Amino acid sequence: MSAPPGIDPGWAGSRRLLRLLRDLMKGKGSSQTRLDKVVDLIAQDIVAEVCSIYLLRSGDVLELFATKGLKPAAVHKTRMRVAQGLVGLIAAQARPVALADAQSHPNFAYFPETGEEVYQSLMGVPIMRGGRVLGVLVVQNRTQRNYTEEEVEALETVAMVLAEMLTGDSLLDVTAAGSAAAAGTMPARLSGMVLNEGLAIGTAVPHQRGIVITQVVAEDPEAELRRLDGALGKMREALDVMLARSDVARDGEHREVLETYRMFADDRGWMRRMHDAVRGGLTAEAAVQKIQNETRARMAAIKDPYLRARLADLDDLGNRLLHHLLGLEEKREEDLPNDMVLIAADLGPAELLDYDQSRLRAVVLEHGAPTSHVAIVARALQIPMIGRCGGIGTEVREGDRVIVDGETGQVLLRPSPAVLAGFAESMANKERQREAYRAVRGLPSVSRDGEAVSLLINAGLMIDLPHLRDGGAEGIGLCRTEVPFMIRDSFPDVPTQTEIYSKILDTADGKPVVFRTLDVGGDKVLPYWRGGDEENPAMGWRAIRIGLDRPALLRRQLRALLHAAAGRTLSVMFPMVSDVAEFEAAKDLLQREIEREKAFGDRLPAQIRVGAMLEVPALALQLPQLLPRCDFVSLGTNDLVQFLFAADRGNPRLARRYDALSPAVLGFIRQIARQAAEHGKPLTACGEMAGHPLEAMALIGCGIQRLSMAPQAIDPVKTMVRGLEVEPLRDCINQLLTLPDHSIREQLKSYASDRDVPI
Ligand code: PEP
Ligand code: MG
Repeated sequence: MSAPPGIDPGWAGSRRLLRLLRDLMKGKGSSQTRLDKVVDLIAQDIVAEVCSIYLLRSGDVLELFATKGLKPAAVHKTRMRVAQGLVGLIAAQARPVALADAQSHPNFAYFPETGEEVYQSLMGVPIMRGGRVLGVLVVQNRTQRNYTEEEVEALETVAMVLAEMLTGDSLLDVTAAGSAAAAGTMPARLSGMVLNEGLAIGTAVPHQRGIVITQVVAEDPEAELRRLDGALGKMREALDVMLARSDVARDGEHREVLETYRMFADDRGWMRRMHDAVRGGLTAEAAVQKIQNETRARMAAIKDPYLRARLADLDDLGNRLLHHLLGLEEKREEDLPNDMVLIAADLGPAELLDYDQSRLRAVVLEHGAPTSHVAIVARALQIPMIGRCGGIGTEVREGDRVIVDGETGQVLLRPSPAVLAGFAESMANKERQREAYRAVRGLPSVSRDGEAVSLLINAGLMIDLPHLRDGGAEGIGLCRTEVPFMIRDSFPDVPTQTEIYSKILDTADGKPVVFRTLDVGGDKVLPYWRGGDEENPAMGWRAIRIGLDRPALLRRQLRALLHAAAGRTLSVMFPMVSDVAEFEAAKDLLQREIEREKAFGDRLPAQIRVGAMLEVPALALQLPQLLPRCDFVSLGTNDLVQFLFAADRGNPRLARRYDALSPAVLGFIRQIARQAAEHGKPLTACGEMAGHPLEAMALIGCGIQRLSMAPQAIDPVKTMVRGLEVEPLRDCINQLLTLPDHSIREQLKSYASDRDVPI
């Protein structure tokens, strides 16, 4: 039987081609001559009429550098922007494209000088190195061909060899990689997202710099398989030792993150893909890197933070494996500075643990997300971390001075001495202020005129809990239960949930804890629970709406809470309640669970208190009906303010447009506080507002007597409370709320400074 025209089906993974390419790499001749030979070789070997190489130049421009089959005059003439045409699309997505009918693809762009109109099918792959796109390798066929997955894989393998060949080659000096090297002497300011707060000044240490793979093509595939398996074994052993040793591995969700991570090291799919790549003709290290490139390309296309965290784990394991294969596993600790600011595209949780924590001042990532595993571990280690810092990888140079401002999310590279001195001064001031704040530990949170203000913490992670013991808070005003759900592979069963909630209650040691039932949906995605895409996720199918539509899910959580609080007090509240009927429906589910426990003869909590979060303005208009039916109310000001102003709380363009310290918001809150007081129902404010002294002062002036905040805000807010007289503040706020102003922030600041209220 003869093979169909086009690519030889036996070609996939052709070791002969790889060997020829390797010989070419070692051979003599100018870069251009070698590239011309490469396209010739590939076209011949795979029986394609066209083979072309496009390389990325500065300014995100792809240029045709060599071709077999297109018109020679087009070489160095045909250029396109990244994302323009099919070649641009491959570079932009860092993913292969294979099309039987390329011209009907919406991204197809016609370049007349190439004469490519006669070729119908196209297969192209990115040429990548170290996660960066260097160019695109394309083959084209005259007939309509359906390229197989194996053929795409084989072309990717060839692209890897090409990437090695191009690295260090003079050709790249004129391309994007070369131009980036010219940068890096001027000060630069980059912005990212705060993943863990804190300030730092230090010396830049780019992570994983310099893993260079020199051997790409395998001489002896069987020996390479043995090397790969040997390195896998060594890596697993080293991981076990490290995770057993690590302090952060002991408790909390970071332990679970690390355990899941360890399980990935045994993932069969991952190992099979690496084995296949070796069988296709690559060395063990090239195979690892090939799978890493594929993983990174998948990561770029995935929005789901949970899945991204999983893929980042695999990437981390890939790096670790490369270290073992190349004998680099010993970190040269002594060569690293004592004030390291670690810079990485992404980082795995275990990779972070590899660094000596006493030398680590901060971490800046090009990617990363609040729920990423590395961010969870960074919080446990109290290392300031900024993520989503675009451009950091190309802008930073090893040894640069770096300022990391984990309050605003700014990263300053190579700052001037004046800026450096200014920042060092403000860090010292902050430290002095923190010291001063610590003075209020152990003192009561009572105003100068004798009004007690309860201060509680918001907790989402186990690592927040020790603050309860040491930080002077009365209890947990908001326990966000969704975080333990987000880091798992599947919905935690009732015993697992019970264990988590019991531990929280145990740690609280009798202090009150308010558990909020799952607030997922919108951007808080559970991988095992999808609601589908929504236009307005914050106003979509989330929180109690999911709980009521999928009662089994909510009931299991309530059951676990009942079990955990057996014999103790259970305080539970429902998020995003929009009307009294929803609250009643949720309470009904709780009642059914209580009946079920009774029927089984299980021990119930000694006391059960049920509350609603007031985050949707409509509920505020039903307070006369709600308050008699609940034990307490919690004001979620983050959501409440966004819904009052119809302004997305996550949209940076709107961040300063409206002020929560406006007569509208504060008047609304005062109204709620008055009604809660009339019904004798405790009202706690638990959004971000409560954690800022000035905002907290305004809330107190509106009649709020309970504030729940991030643990580190307790001391500053308590200092403010102890310097405040509440009665005159109330009078002042009543006056200010009659103003037509956009904001009364400045008036409140003057009020505080006139009376020496420390804000
Ligand atoms: C709020 O909306 O203010 C709140 C505390 O809930 P979350 O920030 O978790 O939505
Ligand atoms: Mg909310």
